[in-house]
Amino acid sequence: MLVTGGAGFVPSHIVDELLARGATVVAIDNFVTGSKENIAHLADHPAFILVEADLADGLPADPALEAPFDAIMHCASPASPTDFGLLPIEIMKVNGPATLHLLERATGDGARFLVTSTSEAYGDPEVHPQPETYWGNVNPIGIRSVYDESKRFAEAATMAYHRSRGTNVAIVRIFNTYGPRMRSDDGRAIPTFIRQALRGEPITVHGTGEQTRSICYVDDLVRGILALLDSGETGPINCGTEYEMTMRQLAETIVRLSGSSSEITYLPRTSDDPERRRPDLTRARTLLGYEPQVGPEEGLRTTIEYFSRRLAR
Ligand code: NAD
Repeated sequence: MLVTGGAGFVPSHIVDELLARGATVVAIDNFVTGSKENIAHLADHPAFILVEADLADGLPADPALEAPFDAIMHCASPASPTDFGLLPIEIMKVNGPATLHLLERATGDGARFLVTSTSEAYGDPEVHPQPETYWGNVNPIGIRSVYDESKRFAEAATMAYHRSRGTNVAIVRIFNTYGPRMRSDDGRAIPTFIRQALRGEPITVHGTGEQTRSICYVDDLVRGILALLDSGETGPINCGTEYEMTMRQLAETIVRLSGSSSEITYLPRTSDDPERRRPDLTRARTLLGYEPQVGPEEGLRTTIEYFSRRLAR
């Protein structure tokens, strides 16, 4: 199997699970947002190969990439709001041309092609919770559009290959996921709040703190994605949880669980930041038998422990 972005937060957990299932895994990464530390434990794994390359221009010539793949999981893409400002062109290339190259390869190999799309495809939703049939409310020229629109392009390209070339495809729309191996400085709320809480610094909530997200522990997400890979479903299928919390509640929970004395402070809201986010999980439940198992307190506790070990180094 080929996993693009295999040294990233979510993809490195997918790689671990695929290897645990006995698969041979080739991961490609250019480490633009991923980390060698996330896959360091696999250095001597006999069924794991890392190819260090940028996917923007397609797959490089490499002996590890010669044999046909049975599945290609296209997970490479910077994904944090900080990246939207710092890596706009890189985001569009890896979700745009790279997706086309990988679809071409999957079609030639007869491989199943799975792409990790996002709840950002719904933009700032006018329908709540969001079912897959909702088309979204995206600002096409806003700061987040490099991500939202390029993921929507990746979905469109995936469906175009499916319809016109018969490619076996699957689209998962991932909602806010957290857990060990996130970057502490990637600008996403959970690692930011945890880092601030562990250092006793003020917790910086954007806006009033009343905007919501539904947070998913990474193990639950990986279970859902692999259930989709194993199914014959095309999707798109939402994957996440219904644990919807306001940013203020999230900040308070992290302060409490980390035993911190940090105060919560409020900064100006970032532009096009969605007001509410919660997946409608009906499709995931009925088509994949998906059910999240890790509640927010348990998942946040594990994540805080991970960051406290890392920040202590
Ligand atoms: P991440 O940044 O940790 O992982 C992405 C990986 O892709 C990194 O290792 C990065 O170095 C690699 N990469 C990026 N561009 C590349 C390129 N051109 N060539 C080779 N490698 C490249 O992000 P993540 O949060 O683990 O997200 C993984 C996937 O899941 C992404 O497609 C993202 O859009 C999607 N997703 C994640 C979330 C979430 O909450 N974490 C939510 C929705 C969607």
